[in-house]
Amino acid sequence: MRVLVVEDEPDIAQFICQGLGESGYAVDLAVDGLSGLDYLLAANYDLLLLDILLPKLDGLQVLSHLRKQGLSTPVLVLTACDTVEDRIRGLDAGADDYLVKPFAFSELLARIRALLRRPPLQVDTVLYVGTLQMDTLRREVLRSGQAIALSPREFTLLEYLMRHADRVLTRTQLAEHVWNFDFPGDFKVVDVYIGYLRRKLARSGDSELIHTVRGVGYRLSAMAEDV
Ligand code: CA
Repeated sequence: MRVLVVEDEPDIAQFICQGLGESGYAVDLAVDGLSGLDYLLAANYDLLLLDILLPKLDGLQVLSHLRKQGLSTPVLVLTACDTVEDRIRGLDAGADDYLVKPFAFSELLARIRALLRRPPLQVDTVLYVGTLQMDTLRREVLRSGQAIALSPREFTLLEYLMRHADRVLTRTQLAEHVWNFDFPGDFKVVDVYIGYLRRKLARSGDSELIHTVRGVGYRLSAMAEDV
């Protein structure tokens, strides 16, 4: 899941970006409203965390530009303003939820999960593909009942593959949703991480789940045939 954070206070921005990174999200940071809008129009985000008091363009203006462009990206507003009028203005402008600063990181994570569970995004928190099972809340992966330890990046990659099981995903799609703008730009990194996942998912007697679709990308499927 790829998240854009628009926040101008360095300490808060670092707190959020570091925590989300450790939780397996791909995170980009914009430090003013104008660059936030540029990022949003340039990339495909699964969620926006938006501060209200921002230089250049405030959060409410960013939000109204975003919705006018027809983008339905879920938006969680982070605000120091906690009057009822402020909250109503944020929700009226198209925010899906808001969180008043200061907040506990665990609450931020819970709000993010709730937003990402809302339709049209996937509602399931436990995913199954063949003998593979992932609990996205407990961050556990099991293959034929055996726990598999994954790094945060591997987990994010596998979750994306499982949420799009039986569909061919291009390297570009995988890079966009699993990596952020720090992405090295060399799609070999995607291949390398697919290799890591294959090795970890391989258990004697279990079939290959990640299929290479030559010249295109990858498909996660419990069905054995290769394309
Ligand atoms: Ca601010």
